[in-house]
Amino acid sequence: MKHRGSGLALAILAGVVSVAGAAAAGAETEVTQIRLGVHPGAVRVVVEASAKLKISSFVLVRPYRVVLDMPEVRWRLPMGTGRRGKGFVAGYRFGQFVPGRARMVFDLKGPAVIVKSFTIPPTPGRPWRFVLDLKRTTAAEARARAGRRTAAVASARRGQPLARSAKKPQTSQKVVVIDPGHGGIDPGTTGAKKRVFEKHITLAMARRLKRELDLSGRYKTVLTRTRDVFVRLRGRIARARASGADLFVSLHVDSMPNSRIRGASIYTLSERASDKEAAALAARENKADLIAGMDLSHNSKQVTDILINLAQRETMNHSVRFARFLFDEMRHSTRFLRKSHRFAGFAVLKAPDVPSVLLEMGYLSNAQDEERLTRPRYQARLAKAMARAIDRYFDARGRAAGR
Ligand SMILES: [Zn+2]
Repeated sequence: MKHRGSGLALAILAGVVSVAGAAAAGAETEVTQIRLGVHPGAVRVVVEASAKLKISSFVLVRPYRVVLDMPEVRWRLPMGTGRRGKGFVAGYRFGQFVPGRARMVFDLKGPAVIVKSFTIPPTPGRPWRFVLDLKRTTAAEARARAGRRTAAVASARRGQPLARSAKKPQTSQKVVVIDPGHGGIDPGTTGAKKRVFEKHITLAMARRLKRELDLSGRYKTVLTRTRDVFVRLRGRIARARASGADLFVSLHVDSMPNSRIRGASIYTLSERASDKEAAALAARENKADLIAGMDLSHNSKQVTDILINLAQRETMNHSVRFARFLFDEMRHSTRFLRKSHRFAGFAVLKAPDVPSVLLEMGYLSNAQDEERLTRPRYQARLAKAMARAIDRYFDARGRAAGR
């Protein structure tokens, strides 16, 4: 990743370990085991791999996390790895971060620092091992040592074309950007039976909707991700604007402690959430960058404070119109929550000139919703309903503009 010019101190890399000579390994390297060992006031993390890993690590605060970055690897880990932590490590996640790079994020119960890290070459019967020692510390020290590297990455991303939309392609095709929520290191919510991840359902549905729309020839469809990879919320908006989107549809699946709640719901942007549940949901969805181990302390304010101006108000009206078509088409094939259309401040809906809707297709915490959402025939029916809604929306806009 290139760092664009910025005043930030890019050179300060907290706790970076460079183990040379891993270049040839690439994605062929397999991570086969992750172990945590607890000692008084300390936790040792051991990552076993089939080849030498080049890992850089840093800590983050608010919430306390440790991030390990490495070149793309293959994860060959036992089921359930990471769900349970040890000592002051509450649990951890791993997955692709951006193409070519993988990441592990350890959630901590309190402030800690990296004391040392090193690699151990293979010995008979044991593979390459990467060792990271963490020590409990004070909040002040953790804050002082919190990794700058992630902030530098974030600032490089800031240079993406957020400020202006790309020129529209010279065709009458409408550009529909489909945004499969979550991905890579951010799995989204997990199924009631703990087997299914939101990120897989959203991608499957996005692909189906794309196929459905492509059949008509009326649209140019763009997916914000086509693989199981993490994309920042800002990156998703940037993708929509760069492709000259006429409509942006973000796909998600929700979950709730109450496993009886089921049904879909549609959200459009508003400064003020329509109710407590909508606000809480927006807060959950906006956390995706946090889950992937991004340091938000430098730009979270910028993300949340994007001006909602007059242009956006016009866009919001179009979003609401599309939301109505979506509800009207989908209600024949799916069940909705009682309040089917709500408003809240989703970061991913904040492109000021692209009508945008976020669709929660149901609840993974509900066994029936989980079962339906993973069923190909149900997915196909849902995708068809969405495509019909998109047709109706552009038909109506065409009629309004055509006279
Ligand atoms: Zn989601």
